[in-house]
Amino acid sequence: MEKIKMITPLVEMDGDEMTRIIWKLIKDILILPYVDLKSEYYDLGLEYRNETDDKVTFDSAYATKKYGVAVKCATITPNADRVKEYNLKEMWKSPNGTIRAILDGTVFRAPIIVKGITPYIPTWTKPITIARHAYGDVYKNTEMQVPEGSKCELVCTDKDGNEIRQTIHEFDSSAGIIQGLHNIDQSIQSFARCCFNYALDTKQDIWFATKDTISKKYDHRFKDIFNEIFDAEYKEKFDAAGIEYFYTLIDDAVARVVRSEGGYIWACKNYDGDVMSDMVATAYGSLAMMTSVLVSPDGTYEYEAAHGTVQRHYYKHLKGEETSTNSVATLFAWTGALRKRGELDGLSDLCAFADKLEKATIQTIEDGVMTGDLYLLSKLENKKKVNTEEFLLAVNDRLKALL
Ligand code: NAP
Ligand code: MG
Repeated sequence: MEKIKMITPLVEMDGDEMTRIIWKLIKDILILPYVDLKSEYYDLGLEYRNETDDKVTFDSAYATKKYGVAVKCATITPNADRVKEYNLKEMWKSPNGTIRAILDGTVFRAPIIVKGITPYIPTWTKPITIARHAYGDVYKNTEMQVPEGSKCELVCTDKDGNEIRQTIHEFDSSAGIIQGLHNIDQSIQSFARCCFNYALDTKQDIWFATKDTISKKYDHRFKDIFNEIFDAEYKEKFDAAGIEYFYTLIDDAVARVVRSEGGYIWACKNYDGDVMSDMVATAYGSLAMMTSVLVSPDGTYEYEAAHGTVQRHYYKHLKGEETSTNSVATLFAWTGALRKRGELDGLSDLCAFADKLEKATIQTIEDGVMTGDLYLLSKLENKKKVNTEEFLLAVNDRLKALL
């Protein structure tokens, strides 16, 4: 078979620990034999980030802006232990944070569903994709504990020095707490555009919810911005695609989500997204089956797995012990990126290859061949636990049959 040709390079961001091992196995077993891979390689492994004073992370984000599609391996976000372990010059920032800030994007997380692994909410037969706004609110707050007798006010000084004051509370009979939150229109607008673009891209309805009945200025601003952008820029495109934008109150949304069968995108404010993404991920069964894509408002895409570098498995691997690490989310990051590259460059054979590789992966698990994490969850009768590499080889057997 002749290898599939590419036109534009894919931005490839390598990473750390067990996922770095998996990265190479995926490429060697499932990509390079079939695709004449054109990639611009950036090594975001912690050692090289340290060597380049983290410049490589910035370069990889600029390359993503230039070419439009990236695939990223999980990376270590250094903490004090890692500074010692890797003898770092500095406690470098989270690569995901750096890349997200440069691309101004929104993260969409979606579960991969397979037979044998039933979600805790059994009616969820289709994926629920969570889009979390990643700026402001309680994550950039100012807060105080205030003593009894305090009067607390919200004060805004405009550029001409005029002050607007509003009383928050007079703490006459008890000490208490206060908190100042903010968000900016520009960030909310970007979030809205990312969400609407992604809905069009994946042909799914999109739901958005806030508490605008209680928060008549703050949350209401989110609702208004979404509505304005939708009406002005997306309504016709949504009609043509046969999909819907649906706004409701956050508590109503939660009730509807639980009763639903899935198959839509749920856009969440920052805090709601933090909480609900963990709820949804757990309900679908395994973090190792959760994909993640960062989409910017101008239409660049960075695909990755939602999980981290699986450190505990890596230390076993280093000791020469056998591992059974799930590579599915990382594999789907590759297929997502290759398919998107194929779509943008008009390469239908590359898109078809990505589809078949995903199909082969799901078929492998549904045939009962799986890694340890899924083995514990799967209700299939004839299931077999395999090691990290055996799983990818089993996928390859099925892929060959599909090609
Ligand atoms: P993690 O790597 O996601 O792993 C947590 C645990 O979840 C693992 O110990 C493992 O459980 C299970 N698990 C996760 N992915 C799995 C997979 N593919 N196959 C099988 N089991 C899997 O999170 P962490 O241990 O908190 O973080 C490790 C490092 O990853 C940290 O340095 C952190 O900074 C980084 N991180 C990076 C990203 C990213 O780049 N996007 C995201 C999160 C964390 P068992 O050990 O019980 O088998
Ligand atoms: Mg959370």
